[in-house]
Amino acid sequence: MSTGVNPFQMAQQQFDEVADQLQLSDNIRKILRWPLREFHFQIPVQMDDGTMQVFRGYRVQHNDARGPAKGGIRFHPAETVDTVRALATWMTWKCAVADIPLGGGKGGVILDPSSLSDSEKQRVCRGWVDQMWRNIGPRLDVPAPDVGTTAQMMGWMMDEYSKLIGQYTPGVITGKPLGGGGSKGRTEATGFGVIVTVREALKRLGIDPKTCTAALHGFGNVSQYAAQNFINMLGGKVVAVSCWDWHEKTAYTFSANEGLDPEFLKSITDQYGTIDKEKAKKAGIKIEDGNAWLKKDVDILIPAAIEGVITKETAPMISSKVKVLAEGANGPCTPDADAYFKKTNIYVIPDFLCNSGGVICSYFEGVQNDMNYYWELEEVVRNLDKKMTSAFASVHDMSIDRKVYTRNAAYMVAIDRVVRAMQLRGWI
Ligand code: GLU
Repeated sequence: MSTGVNPFQMAQQQFDEVADQLQLSDNIRKILRWPLREFHFQIPVQMDDGTMQVFRGYRVQHNDARGPAKGGIRFHPAETVDTVRALATWMTWKCAVADIPLGGGKGGVILDPSSLSDSEKQRVCRGWVDQMWRNIGPRLDVPAPDVGTTAQMMGWMMDEYSKLIGQYTPGVITGKPLGGGGSKGRTEATGFGVIVTVREALKRLGIDPKTCTAALHGFGNVSQYAAQNFINMLGGKVVAVSCWDWHEKTAYTFSANEGLDPEFLKSITDQYGTIDKEKAKKAGIKIEDGNAWLKKDVDILIPAAIEGVITKETAPMISSKVKVLAEGANGPCTPDADAYFKKTNIYVIPDFLCNSGGVICSYFEGVQNDMNYYWELEEVVRNLDKKMTSAFASVHDMSIDRKVYTRNAAYMVAIDRVVRAMQLRGWI
C-alpha cells in the first residue's frame, strides 16, 4: 500500500511552493511547516487470549490559531508519524478553507483493525484516550473517525473521556453514533461534500453531470457515499470502483460499463471496504487489477482511499477523456503528479477542499453537542451544501484571479486565514 512517497515531505513541499508565491516571512514558514505539538505513546492492550500487545499511538496538533485542533484518528498497519504529521497539517488547511473555527490535528495507531476482535478494538480505543485525555477536549483538540476507525469507536472514546473527567462530554470527539451524541448526516457528509464540489466544478466547466461517468478508488465510507450521490444527486453513472482486499492484501477494480449499483456493492462490502469478489462476479461485475480504475475512459476520477496513489508513474495512465479529478482522499496525488496535471486540462479539486464535508459536519456536531440541541437532517445537509459551495467558490475564484493551479489557490485561501488568526492573536 505504501507508495514510497513521504506524505509529510509532500505536505511541506506543497506549502513551500505557495509560501514562495505569497512571499511569507521565515518565521511564519517555520511555524507552519511543522506541527506545534506532537504526542507519541504506547498503548498496552490485553488481548482476548490473555496475552498483552503494545501498540504505538500518535496525536499531532499542527496548528490551533483558528480554534481547537481537529482531525481524525487512523488505525492502519502502515501508519507512520510522518503520515500523521502530514494529515494534521492538511487538517489546518482544510478547516481554514472551509472557514470553520478549528485548527488541524490528526491521530493514529499502528495496527490492522481487521485482525482484532470488537472487544480488543474497544480496549485500543479506551487505551488511546487513557494516554491522551489530558491533551484533548472540546476546547483543546477534538478527534474524529478516519481510515480504519468507526462511529462506534468514537462512542467508546467519548465514554472513556467522560469517565476520566467525571462529566458527560460529547463534544470531545465527533463522528459519534446517532443517539450517542452524533449528528445526522455525519456518516454521509464527506462523500456528499465530494459530490457538491464535483457539481460546482462541472458547472464552471459547462458540463452536464448527467452525461458523465466516474471511476473511484477505494470503497470505504467516503467512496460509498460519493458513488451514491454522484448517481442520486447529479444523475451520473459510476462505472468502476477499486478496493483494497484486507484478506489478500491486494487491490481489485470492480467495473461495469452499464453502471454499478453502489447500494448493491455496499451490501457485499465488509466494514473495512473489502468487496466480496464471488458475490460481485455472480452479479455480472467484472473484476480487474487494482490500477484498472485509473485507466478508465471516464469524465470524473475520484481517488477516495489513501494518500500517494497518483504519482509520476501512474498519472500518465489517466485517460485524456478525464475532465475532473476530485480528491476524496487526503493526499492522493504527489507533487510530481501535480506537475503533470498542471500541463493538462484536468480540473483538480484539491483534497482539503474536496473532502472537507466530513469535518464541516463534525463542526456542526460539536455545535449541537454544545447547544445540547440536535438538528434535523435537512438542516445539516442545507448548511453543509452552503459551506462547501462557498469554499469551492473562494478557491475557484482565487485560481482565476491569481492564475494559479487549484491546489495552490486552496493553499492561498487557507494560509491567508491561518496567518491572519495568528496575527490577531499576537503570535507573529
Ligand atoms: N478524518 C476526516 C478528515 O480527514 C474528518 C475529520 C473530522 O471530522 O474531524 O477530514
